[in-house]
Amino acid sequence: MPKKPALSPQSPGSNSGSVFVVSAPSGAGKTTLCKALLEASPDLQLSVSYTTRPMRAGEKDGVDYHFVDIADFEKRIEEGEFAEWARVHGNYYGTSIRRLEEMSRSGKDILLDIDYQGAAQLKKCLDNGVYIFIMPPDFAVLQQRLEKRNSDPEEVIIRRIENARQEVLEAKWYDYIVVNDNFDFALQQLKAILSAESCRTTLILPAMQDMLN
Ligand code: 5GP
Repeated sequence: MPKKPALSPQSPGSNSGSVFVVSAPSGAGKTTLCKALLEASPDLQLSVSYTTRPMRAGEKDGVDYHFVDIADFEKRIEEGEFAEWARVHGNYYGTSIRRLEEMSRSGKDILLDIDYQGAAQLKKCLDNGVYIFIMPPDFAVLQQRLEKRNSDPEEVIIRRIENARQEVLEAKWYDYIVVNDNFDFALQQLKAILSAESCRTTLILPAMQDMLN
């Protein structure tokens, strides 16, 4: 874990939208929900993280992640390149400050699909972050989903459930909790959060100065 967060507040002259930071225990359906949310929201752009985990079948470098080796990742840590980084399931994951700032200048909203450790780091240094935690309805459903979705051995599934019990405790400091019991409803709730956040006084007022003078 980094000693202190590296991201400075919004860069001067940037035309930032909101940064939606989404976390969940594995099996809660976060990846599928984020994908559907991105498809439904043309003004939302995904932040592509760096990782040292091996590429999975069907994934593309630069699209799903920037896949790098451990030495490369550790050099980037040394050089202060990450807004946040963490070790998740034994691999490094991190968000590049430069890429975040580039995306921010476009004025579009940004979606970060990152774990709670990274989210906690951003919470300390981002002033336009909106934190959303995706919850499974209960641990029995989580277990069923994990068993159904992959061929992980039973002990790996048990470990993920144990991790999930710790991870859900982090939900208390997020701005929103979306319970993914019904996929369509959970997606609707995510869209509603995006919509509500787009009406924030701090975002709208600067564009309304003519009317207010
Ligand atoms: P996966 O390897 O299954 O794609 O992701 C594993 C976990 O790492 C997920 O919880 C995902 O949200 C998280 N993750 C992906 N990118 C980042 C990142 O840049 N930073 C942090 N802290 N976690 C990440």
